[in-house]
Amino acid sequence: MVKTCPVCTGERVSHERNLNDIELLKCSTCGFVYANLDDNIIKEDNANYGECAEANYETNQRITELIWFENIVKKITKMVGTGKVLDVGCGNGLLLKYFIGHNWQAYGVDLSPWSKKFARMYGYKLYSCELEDSELPSNYFDAVTSTSTLEHIPQPYRHIKEIIRVLKPAGIAYFAGFPNYGSLAVRLGISTFNYNKPPGHVNYFTAKSINWLFSNTDLAKDIKQFHVISYGIPEFHRLAYIIKNFIALKKAKKLPAGSISSTSHPQTKHTLNSLVLKALVSAFVVLYYNIGRPFYLGDKLEVIVIKRS
Ligand SMILES: [Zn+2]
Repeated sequence: MVKTCPVCTGERVSHERNLNDIELLKCSTCGFVYANLDDNIIKEDNANYGECAEANYETNQRITELIWFENIVKKITKMVGTGKVLDVGCGNGLLLKYFIGHNWQAYGVDLSPWSKKFARMYGYKLYSCELEDSELPSNYFDAVTSTSTLEHIPQPYRHIKEIIRVLKPAGIAYFAGFPNYGSLAVRLGISTFNYNKPPGHVNYFTAKSINWLFSNTDLAKDIKQFHVISYGIPEFHRLAYIIKNFIALKKAKKLPAGSISSTSHPQTKHTLNSLVLKALVSAFVVLYYNIGRPFYLGDKLEVIVIKRS
């Protein structure tokens, strides 16, 4: 079976590479790269992915993620004020929690069964299905967000078209956190694709193929403007792993097994540590965001779309 291009429905495709023993295809018409997998297999894997992610979400709400989400909410609020927001693939509802804190009326879509308890916890309306099955009204939301989600979607064109449909005229669609297949690491051939493999990730966008999608498909007539950037340090995961191991090695050399470190004034030390940590993480987030911007060589892509009024 050869899957037709889920962006332009083109049937002329070529072999791009194999990842995890699954073939990636490149569409000759629009240049989009995607996994040659049946949509039902992708959907099944998305449901399983959700189950694995629950434990991870609860224990690992990383501080960088919190700062990132807060920045997204501030950015969108600055652009459109407040109103109704829909987060597609809302998971543990963290992003919606921040929107609620900025006086937005929040809605989420997520098919993972465990996402329900977060909707109850933070108080937003959840549609427990895929966006395409949620039967949401047209021209309804002032903003729709999609973070770290586009890489999982079996039919990205249809999915994005649905997002634009539910958006109010002049509303904002915000996509971010999906891997950039045109990143420096991929271009140099040094990417390990460790966190970016099928069947978990099936769409391999570049700034060029995103541009094609919003300029040359039916979407173009509904869009006033769109803006694509890349961000993030290429192969950051690998770099983080090396740094983590290096620190662990240093610590192991300093502290003999069983030794206890000094704990005088633990409270003051704790407050100071968390302030320093927050400052360091904030500085890192700014660096992380900006370093990958030139020439679309960063690790991730971000797209801001304004619907025609
Ligand atoms: Zn195509």
